[in-house]
Amino acid sequence: MGGPNTSRSGCDHHVPSTLRTSLRRKLLRWYDKHRRQLPWRDRSDDPYAQWVAEIMLQQTRVDTVIDYYVRFMKRFPTVAGLARARHETVLKHWEGLGYYRRALALHRAATQIADDGEGLPKSADEWKRLPGVGTYTSAAIASIAYGEPIAAVDGNVARVVARLFGVTQDVLSPSGRAQVQRIADQLVPRKRPGDFNQAWMDLGSSVCTPTAPDCDRCPLKTECVAVQRGSAHLLPVRKRSRPKKSVALAVGVIRDDHRMLVRRRPKGGLWSGLWEFPNIETSRAKRSALRDVIELTSRLPVRLHADPTYAATVRHQLTHRNIEFHIFVGEGDSMASCSQDPTLRWVTARGFERLSVSTAHRRIYDAVESSAPVV
Ligand code: SF4
Repeated sequence: MGGPNTSRSGCDHHVPSTLRTSLRRKLLRWYDKHRRQLPWRDRSDDPYAQWVAEIMLQQTRVDTVIDYYVRFMKRFPTVAGLARARHETVLKHWEGLGYYRRALALHRAATQIADDGEGLPKSADEWKRLPGVGTYTSAAIASIAYGEPIAAVDGNVARVVARLFGVTQDVLSPSGRAQVQRIADQLVPRKRPGDFNQAWMDLGSSVCTPTAPDCDRCPLKTECVAVQRGSAHLLPVRKRSRPKKSVALAVGVIRDDHRMLVRRRPKGGLWSGLWEFPNIETSRAKRSALRDVIELTSRLPVRLHADPTYAATVRHQLTHRNIEFHIFVGEGDSMASCSQDPTLRWVTARGFERLSVSTAHRRIYDAVESSAPVV
């Protein structure tokens, strides 16, 4: 049986119609039998539900998203409700999901939609004009909610397409992306384009997985170039990602009797608008970072009773960087000027619970509370 011929020449991206028909039929039949039951799939004709789900799914595993999605939709069931919500409330419902800029962009876009008064966008092109909505997300929403025949190519889909058609170009390079997109564009059917896009995604996450594709269970095995060439484990080609940056931060957890001093991060950048314990970048290791904490606290409106003491080091990984937090705990008295600075606040443990805080700073709090080094 011949495989797809699009990539054999390296420049021919045409997918013959018989092959298109066969792949669509097989993939949709497989999807009808094996589709994952997901809460947003119960509302597939609701563009708002698809939008929220797609934004949450960016860089985040489906299993992690499910509970967040259910809670978020319960609290913000409509775009109007989301637009009316305070920033802080939206962030609180996003807490722990990471990549908080997504939440802020979602909120900004909801406000924009409410202000325009035209309702939700009606096509992928219109969706793409909203903050935080890119080519993939707009295509996913429009194909699922409106039946727009447009291919939604994410990392999962790119992997399946690269293997199925033997694409040997780097799928992260502009030309590799374009090749995968051109192939996917030809495959998406006019009928059930949303199901077809979701079928790719499900196949990529459950069968054609990154490290162990289960070709024996794959409905497209007969057509797959990677299987014929024995190259599934070599594809897709991705250029080596840059090594992660490592940074160390000295953190001061300053207490005033039963309260702790927290500050709010500026808008934009990492953990935009979230609350955190005061911290400063340090080049010193663990206990010797005390000098940086003293320097840091000298700029805060607090009078320390004594030098802070080392409590723990917490290591936290983000997609592009590893962070080491060297944590010091100090006792002090609040100075009056604190109440004049809206970015600083003294909070009790319960007050801290109510704030929007990144997972990293929740871990810092837990480490201090348990008084045991967390590594
Ligand atoms: Fe992926 Fe194997 Fe299916 Fe090819 S046959 S698409 S490599 S799971």
